[in-house]
Amino acid sequence: MRAWHVDAPGPVTGHPLRLSTDDEIPRPGPGELLLKVLACGVCRTDLHVTEGDLPVHRPGVTPGHEVVAEVAATGPEVTDFREGDRAGAAWLRWTDNTCTFCRRGAENLCPQSLYTGWDADGGYAEYLTVPAPYAHRLPEGYTDTELAPLLCAGIIGYHALQRAELPDHGRLGLYGFGGSAHLAAQVAMARGATVHVLTRREQAKQLARDLGAASVGDADGMPPEPLDSAILFAPVGDLVLPALAALDRGGTLAIAGIALTDIPPLNYERHLFQERQLRSVTSNTRAGAREFLGFAAEHKLAVTVHPYPLDAADQALRDLKAGRFDGAAVLVP
Ligand SMILES: [Zn+2]
Ligand SMILES: [Zn+2]
Repeated sequence: MRAWHVDAPGPVTGHPLRLSTDDEIPRPGPGELLLKVLACGVCRTDLHVTEGDLPVHRPGVTPGHEVVAEVAATGPEVTDFREGDRAGAAWLRWTDNTCTFCRRGAENLCPQSLYTGWDADGGYAEYLTVPAPYAHRLPEGYTDTELAPLLCAGIIGYHALQRAELPDHGRLGLYGFGGSAHLAAQVAMARGATVHVLTRREQAKQLARDLGAASVGDADGMPPEPLDSAILFAPVGDLVLPALAALDRGGTLAIAGIALTDIPPLNYERHLFQERQLRSVTSNTRAGAREFLGFAAEHKLAVTVHPYPLDAADQALRDLKAGRFDGAAVLVP
């Protein structure tokens, strides 16, 4: 089968990725599914894995954790999926189920957790294996390419909205407007929120207007009204300051990325006082993912996708880094 491997992590403008055409199709172990990939989203985290911003967990790993697939085979002890079922694989691949975080329903914080496309080979390939308890049923009413970004961009955006404690009919600011933000915006609007989008990219601004944002402005500007909640999607620590300054009293800023450039010094009066809160967002739980996929089944989300052939995964990552498209890139084998 064809599969991409991160041979030498480094800038995507070089050649950190290698396409192999003769990998063996993996065999599902006990409790695992063999998935035949129908579509795999391209997430900024794949860029971090490929460029080495995240430490190497598995040398030569195949990236990709927004996998829409068909179950090609089931390993021993699998009871809840059958060959031919559709299934999704997401970032969270395995947790120990026994630590204090798992036991209190915060498996996203499990210190033993493993991740698709980082600790184990992911979906930039024709096949992959995943533990069945961590595979997802997929909502109806979407194409394969539309479903792919829901599996990380959508799930994380949904978790970030929860972390930002957006009140009903609240005022939400989104800093950066890519794959995750354009889905979170729609969830928030479906719940009656007023959404202000702050981004530097023209294409993203247009998409934000098309989706019904109340205002669209530059990333370092101020929204036209104070915010109850804000989410920082752009991996830019400098933006923490204007985002905190834009919060109303008691407001919350959630940082959605897995990596962020350094945050400049905060001024207590301007950025934090009046009980403003700054929070990070770490991965997701299966329960959170399923809640979001259920929401997507009830509310048809407009998913802006840019399909690339699997063989062009390196180009898709270069285009993501350069901000050459709005919405989300999706690889199709
Ligand atoms: Zn755990
Ligand atoms: Zn992701």
